[in-house]
Amino acid sequence: MEEQDINIPCPICTLSGQVKMIAHVDEIPYFGEHTQVTILCHDCGWRQTDFIPAEGKKAGAWTLRVDEPSKLTARVVRSSSCTVHIPELDLQVNPGSNATGYVSNIEGVLKRFKEIVVMVLRDLQGDLEENLEAGIDSETMDQIARLNQILQHMEGLDQDDASPLSIVLLDPHGHSMIMHPDAEERDLTPEELRELPVGPDPAVFSADEMA
Ligand SMILES: [Zn+2]
Repeated sequence: MEEQDINIPCPICTLSGQVKMIAHVDEIPYFGEHTQVTILCHDCGWRQTDFIPAEGKKAGAWTLRVDEPSKLTARVVRSSSCTVHIPELDLQVNPGSNATGYVSNIEGVLKRFKEIVVMVLRDLQGDLEENLEAGIDSETMDQIARLNQILQHMEGLDQDDASPLSIVLLDPHGHSMIMHPDAEERDLTPEELRELPVGPDPAVFSADEMA
């Protein structure tokens, strides 16, 4: 595959002249023809992949209520401009500067959420241990308890009696999709269009939950 020079500074290391683009057309099973575009920096290793559908897409939201284990295998295309939201857990991952498009399934999307939750948990537990002498910080304890509940909830979804979760993809560029007969597509509201980040932007959880 041939790399093309693109004359922009790297968003991470700010070096110019090292940023290249690779584009190729690919057939993604069930989603049809897409152009896969990867932009990468040879200096710091930053890369971002995106999937652009051959047929034009409009900004939209996709929701799948995961109320039975079989839905964990529903295919997902998440583009780098996509915000992923789990309303029941009040969790949200915005497209960040490291956001990269991927093709996965619901289980894979949840796995990425779990990795972030585990990372935050580890930080909180580290904070707690460091500050033990100052006494137990009940706010941090509450956050840890809540995050453990979130993990348990996500890990229990492969059980038949699990309490359901919804996966919502919000994509102002309209390049993201959930492929399942029960997945619902709708237009983004004007508020969502105004407020949704399209990246690059630091990836954050909803600030009041994770701050
Ligand atoms: Zn770089």
